[in-house]
Parts: sequence; structure tokens; C-alpha cells
Amino acid sequence: MDTIRHWIHGSHVDPNNSRRADVWNPATGEVQKQVALADVPEVDRAVDSAKKALESWQHASLATRTRVLFAYRELVNQQKDELARMLTLEHGKVFSDAQGEVQRGLEVVEYACGLSDLLKGEISENVSTEVDSYSFRQPVGVVAGITPFNFPAMVPMWMYPIAIACGNTFVLKPSERDPSVTNLCAELLKKAGLPDGVFNVVHGDKVAVDRLLEHPDVGAVSFVGSTPIARYIYENGTRNGKRVQALGGAKNHMVVLPDADMDLAADAAVGAGYGSAGERCMAISVLVTVGNAADKLLPKIRERIAALKVGNGLDPASQMGPLITQQHRDKVAGYIAAGQKDGAELLVDGRTLVVPGHEKGFFLGPTLLDQVKPGMSCYEEEIFGPVLSVVRAPSYDEAIAMIHRHPYANGTAVFTNDGGAARKFRHDIEVGMVGINVPIPVPMSYYSFGGWKQSLFGDLHIYGPDGVRFYTRNKVIIERWPDPRFRGVDLGFPQNR
Ligand code: NAD
Repeated sequence: MDTIRHWIHGSHVDPNNSRRADVWNPATGEVQKQVALADVPEVDRAVDSAKKALESWQHASLATRTRVLFAYRELVNQQKDELARMLTLEHGKVFSDAQGEVQRGLEVVEYACGLSDLLKGEISENVSTEVDSYSFRQPVGVVAGITPFNFPAMVPMWMYPIAIACGNTFVLKPSERDPSVTNLCAELLKKAGLPDGVFNVVHGDKVAVDRLLEHPDVGAVSFVGSTPIARYIYENGTRNGKRVQALGGAKNHMVVLPDADMDLAADAAVGAGYGSAGERCMAISVLVTVGNAADKLLPKIRERIAALKVGNGLDPASQMGPLITQQHRDKVAGYIAAGQKDGAELLVDGRTLVVPGHEKGFFLGPTLLDQVKPGMSCYEEEIFGPVLSVVRAPSYDEAIAMIHRHPYANGTAVFTNDGGAARKFRHDIEVGMVGINVPIPVPMSYYSFGGWKQSLFGDLHIYGPDGVRFYTRNKVIIERWPDPRFRGVDLGFPQNR
């Protein structure tokens, strides 16, 4: 069986221990590969390589960096389908969804290609007589990325293209569940002309993550994953003096007002609730129907669920694939059982689904729970599966209050035809990303992505302008050239004249 190896200093590196994790094909339920799990010496080797490469990469001209990223953009574009196929085999999401993921990641690479504009500084002439002041941004140094299973190509691309563009070197610890795509990206970066050591990959688990968090040569850590681990990364990374951004989990509410276009809202709820089997941090997991909206909306949602085709992601007819592991599938099934026990009404039960020819796959069909209430575990916790919970709110104000009481605040959406209500929602709501008649409000690469409250630990969002700020340090210069008029000792605090 193939073992997925680390990528250090421009080459695949054999593991120096016997720790491995299984990499499954979630559609068939079979182990297809194993991935090496790094120990401390392997992480140290990757960080040493990044530190060495930093000596020259931080001085590489903007033109050189742009050329490498541009070449990488071309290579990823050429290999888009191969990356998507690898992703479907290990993650399970359907091929068209995987293509969409790679495309979204590519847009961040394209944004990073504009680094010469992004890294421009500022200058003020004559801040005092014959004195000029200017500022520019310099790389942080060696930075680490730790990423989740659900977007194995895109989420790392939220990080390393920007970090590398800014002159940093990078060590990535991708998810151990679907790691193959990362190694292909590493090979493509090398082919694009990236010097050895600027981008390294250590596969692994908590052992590798903990070493990155304490390694004295790592200056900054970007993390994306679940909230308990995000909090852990933020607390430990900052305790060790590192700059940290840690994006966590989500429970995204979609509010449907009674005047909404119900066909549009039903399409959106089904697409955003069950796309990628609900394993998206921007998935809609709670549908908040206001007033009598549920009576009109729910029959339309049930009609659409009945027509959904669940199957192997490589089958072009499939619209939804399996969950990532059997263990995760069982956990999602447990939330459905708990919801029913707590008094929710199970309108559609995905637990009974069988995909012919894929009986061992980790499938769970689209599920619809009605009459869900705050306090139930299926409402309070992130399920991360194809389960849509309907909560009925008597009024707009009650819907907003419910969202504000929830600890997660990654994304939200409102569906309405009333411009005033939409405007009020976008202003009032305390959530990081907001959709108006758009269910998955993912910002473009030239904005930045991130939630509020327990969906993000740290000050800066990821990629876009905030990404450039995160991966750079500001330096301010104040400059005067010798002028006989300004000689002489003066112990006073300098005044601008
Ligand atoms: P996870 O938190 O289990 O794992 C994320 C990363 O942390 C992986 O690389 C994993 O190896 C590592 N890790 C896991 N346990 C660890 C531990 N105890 N100590 C140190 N490191 C550890 O998340 P996941 O299951 O891979 O991904 C799904 C989660 O990610 C969901 O909660 C989802 O909402 C979230 N997510 C959030 C965003 C966002 O932008 N906010 C985007 C994608 C996914």
C-alpha cells in the first residue's frame, strides 16, 4: 500500500518512524493509502529547511516572486481536473464540487500574483522640514499552516500563496484524512520555479501540530478547523509569542422572511444545506422561518430532497457524496437521533439510505428536522453533515436574537424581497459574512474571509488584504539627510517644524 510522504526541501522524504494513518475512499469504505505521521525531528527538519530558504527568499525581487506564482497558477489550472479527481477519491465530494474548490483556491493564487501592488508602501515628504517618513511591510519569517479535511486544496491555498508572495517561507500540516492533493501542489510549486525549502509539507497529527506551536523559529501560525482545536491553537501559539489566526467551526443560520421568493429560498437551502454533504464551514445548517414562512417553504424543500441523487462522487449523476469517515457518519446519525429524542420532528431521515454497489461507503442521506429549538444538541452543536434543522421564529426580532445568542458567527443569510428588511439585517447582524438572497456568502479572493465570536480566534481574517497584513510586519522609517542648519545637541523631545 502507498504511503504518502512528507515534502521537505523540494523532495519527498521517507518517514523516519512507523506511525501511519489510514486514508480511506469514503465512497467505497476501503483504505486506499496510508499517510506518514511526523514526529518532532521531521517537523524540525521542515522548519530548518524553511529557515534556510528564508535567507534568500525574503530578498527575492517582487518580479521573481510574481513569476513563480504566475507559473504556479498556470500549472494548477492545467492540473485542475487531476487535483479534483484526487480530492474526490479521498474526501468524497462530487467531482464538479471538487473542481469548484480548486477554482476558488486558484483565485487566491491569482490575487497573490498581484503582490507588487499589494506590497506597496506609503511615503510622506516633509513631515518636518527636510524630513521624510515612509513605511513598508516585510515578511514575518517562517510561517506554518494547519488545515482541515473539508477543503484539502482550497484552504491551504487561502494561506501559502499569500505568505510566499509576501516573502515568507511555509510549513504546511494538512489534514491527515485527505493529504494527497497537497503533495501534488508541492510538486507543482517546485515545477513553477519555487526554490527548495520555501514550501514544505509535514503530514501528521497532534504531535506535529504541537511542535509547530512551540518551535522557536516559527513566527506565525494560520489555522482552519473546528472550534475546540482553533481555541487550543490560538492559546498555545500566542502563549509562545507567535502571531496566530485560528478559524473555527460554524452553525450558519438562513433566515427566510414570509415575503421571500420561496422557490429561490428552497433551492438555496437545499444547495447550501446538502452540498458537499454539509461538510462546509459555510453550509447552511439552521433554517429560521419567520411567521408562516415554513408552511410555504417546507413542501418545496421536501420535493427537492426527494429528487437528490446521492452516490460516488466520481459518478457524474451524483449530486452529493459520502461523509469523510464511518465514525463521522455515526456521529451525524447520533445528532439526528438526539434531535428526535429532544422533540424535533423528523421530516426526512437520511439514515436509512443505501447506495447500491457502495454498501460499505460512509453515506448518509439528506435529513430534515422540523420544530428544532435552542437548547437541543442538534441546534447548539456543529453537526457538519447533511442535516438541515428548521427553527420557527414568531418574528424577525426573535430570529435575530436567536442568531445573536448562538456562540458561532461564521456566516448567515437572509431571504426576502423587502430591501429595507435586508438592509436592516445586514446592518444589525453580528456575524462575519452575510448573504442577502445568497446562501453561501463566501467573499472573493480580494476581500477577506472570516467569522466572528467562536468562529475566529485572532484579529485578522484570512486571505485578501487581511492575509497580506497577517503575513507581514510594518516598518516605519523617518529620514533626514545631513544639513548644517540642523546640527547641535538638543535634549528636548523632537518637534516637527
Ligand atoms: P479539526 O479541527 O479536527 O482538524 C483541523 C486540523 O487540526 C487538522 O490538520 C488536524 O490534524 C489538526 N488537529 C486535530 N486534532 C488536533 C489536536 N487535538 N491537536 C492539534 N491538532 C489537531 O477539523 P476537521 O474535522 O479537519 O475539519 C472540520 C472543521 O473545520 C469544522 O468544524 C469546520 O467548520 C471547520 N472549518 C472552518 C472553516 C472556516 O473558515 N472557519 C473552513 C473549513 C473548515
